Amino acid sequence: MSSIVVHYQEIVLKGKNRPWFMGRLVRNLRAAVSDLDVRSVRALMGRIELVLGPDAVREEVGDRIRRTFGVANFSYASRGPLDLDVLAAAILRDLEGRDCATFRVSARRADKRFPLTSPQIEREVGGRIKQARGWTVDLDDPELVIHAEFLTNEVFYFFDKERGPGGLPTGTAGRVLGLLSGGIDSPVAAWRMMKRGCAVTFVHFHSYPVLSRASQDKARELVTLLTTWQRHSRLYLVAFGEIQQQVVLAVPAPMRVVVYRRLMLRIAERIARARRAQALVTGDVVGQVASQTLENLAVVGNVAALPLFRPLIGMDKDEITAQAIGIGTYPISIIPDQDCCTLFTPRHPQTRARLDAIEAAEVALPIEEMVERAVRDAAVEEFDFPASAEGFGEARRSAKREGGR
Ligand code: ATP
Ligand code: MG
Repeated sequence: MSSIVVHYQEIVLKGKNRPWFMGRLVRNLRAAVSDLDVRSVRALMGRIELVLGPDAVREEVGDRIRRTFGVANFSYASRGPLDLDVLAAAILRDLEGRDCATFRVSARRADKRFPLTSPQIEREVGGRIKQARGWTVDLDDPELVIHAEFLTNEVFYFFDKERGPGGLPTGTAGRVLGLLSGGIDSPVAAWRMMKRGCAVTFVHFHSYPVLSRASQDKARELVTLLTTWQRHSRLYLVAFGEIQQQVVLAVPAPMRVVVYRRLMLRIAERIARARRAQALVTGDVVGQVASQTLENLAVVGNVAALPLFRPLIGMDKDEITAQAIGIGTYPISIIPDQDCCTLFTPRHPQTRARLDAIEAAEVALPIEEMVERAVRDAAVEEFDFPASAEGFGEARRSAKREGGR
């Protein structure tokens, strides 16, 4: 098996934009395997073929494909000629050592000029295999499906299909800014936007030096992992401790949580605009904590002029947790840390904030100055996967301080 054949689904539906979506998926796949021995990645009559070199480790390539959005499924495949005798012999050779009771052949013609119909091909190839191996044909629920896809000059054949992640190719939906805490929810929220083709830039608010650096390390680890799904990420680390201290001095305790959140969104929005991100994303869920009542969500959201997306809004904690486990962020999220939310958080936060009262309380704060300073002093780190310099497996990280903006 010298190739991997990738099938896509949803992008087929995109009409006139299809070539553009396809081109993006091919480019994304190429980048995803750029450090592995893959000879070529090319679109081929409604599918994409990755030609493996002699040093390619199949599973390693497969793992990259599993992290490439837009892939519906993929298979380790071989190429055969359009001659049914030679093709059946090649399939039989590849099936040596494999046993099963029932099977069927599933044929598709990408080029309809082949003289036999798909059912005829299935009967012809299936008959030869049945004769050679003595297996029973079962069209409904076979143990083994032998897929054969007839192109103009060759046939791809393969036996198993693996599911891809689905979704849309990264970069086809524009950029969003994800607010990433160290919790379980926000990485899942970001991932769901990534799956819809968005490139996600991250911002994390921390309370260093008032609290430890732990939350920043968690944010980095989460971004490192999430970068394996989009290959490049930028993380803004924003110092929030001093801002919280200013709020404590000026705002009555019950209102503080909402005021903190509104400040986070203002800062996030400023970063989003500098980064040309078109929306903000949070991991809010209705009713999960006191700050997430409908009233508070409305008053917090009101401060953002950019669209604010909350992809988890209607999910239960166990549904989100299951997804976090699937993505791999869960073990990182549950590492204990000192989140900035635990700092200066009143014991009895208001659950029904009123916009006019909050706005009145905020008058005591030099908001513009606070926002500007937070953005100016933010540390910026870049993440890449695969990391060209240090080999694959770990996302490369480089830090710099962003001056000016
Ligand atoms: P999570 O599990 O994502 O931390 P949560 O259930 O703890 O969410 P909140 O703490 O109310 O809920 O936070 C709601 C959302 O606000 C988070 O999902 C995240 O998007 C954003 N947020 C909260 N704290 C931070 C932070 N320190 N840095 C960046 N974003 C944050
Ligand atoms: Mg949290």
